[in-house]
Amino acid sequence: MPRHDRSAVRDGDAGLPVTAFFTTRAGGVSLAPYQSLNVADHVGDDAVAVERNRGIVSERAGAPVRFLNAAHGIAVGHVTAQTRTLPLADVLVASEAGVALGAIAADCAPVLIHDGASGAVAAVHCGREGLYRGVIDAAMAAIFDLRGGWSDGALLTASIGPSICGRCYEVPVEMRERVASRHPAARASTRQGTAALDIPRAIESRLAEFGFGDVVRSTSCTFEDESYFSHRRDGVTGRHAGVIVCEGPGGSTRIAR
Ligand SMILES: [Zn+2]
Repeated sequence: MPRHDRSAVRDGDAGLPVTAFFTTRAGGVSLAPYQSLNVADHVGDDAVAVERNRGIVSERAGAPVRFLNAAHGIAVGHVTAQTRTLPLADVLVASEAGVALGAIAADCAPVLIHDGASGAVAAVHCGREGLYRGVIDAAMAAIFDLRGGWSDGALLTASIGPSICGRCYEVPVEMRERVASRHPAARASTRQGTAALDIPRAIESRLAEFGFGDVVRSTSCTFEDESYFSHRRDGVTGRHAGVIVCEGPGGSTRIAR
């Protein structure tokens, strides 16, 4: 695999030391309103089309991707090559080489985490409710559990994928204040000056508190950029994904920056 370089981040590459990327709407087989690379099987799309799309994404990952089934909570699912049925969980973690995880979203943030200490990876679906309830902390608890310790945050890297931005995600004032009471970095305002939430900024802030060595954050807003699915913009629509492949302990075929 090529040596990794931040300046070379393109085609949705997540900028992590292992194979990790974010998909867009392009390159799939689903028809309107799911056109075209919809990977969600719970949004009313044709099941055969979704399976084909998941196959396309798995081909890019080089391994069969296990996509999470979000419940907007903090449940964690540990995935191995033997895992048959995935639980409802907004966090999937894996420490076995060759296991690929996918976090689906359409405005919520897909977050990919790699632990250079253990080789473990996590795929997280983080929206307003998950953030408030502690889904990032749940992911980190699982990562530290696999690692067997809390030190050396510098070996952790993460990538926050395309999501609705703080200028677009208008919410009632009470909702903003509820989330901001736990995550002050989430407090935002729309271009019109009304109450809003900045979920990706709050995630980045929380990851910094865990001492991450590096956090890459997408600059794309799903609500503004029609190359991504947006539930708020389109209502009935598909989901894109963040995908990360576990390479096992010490396994990082890509050289970190
Ligand atoms: Zn926006």
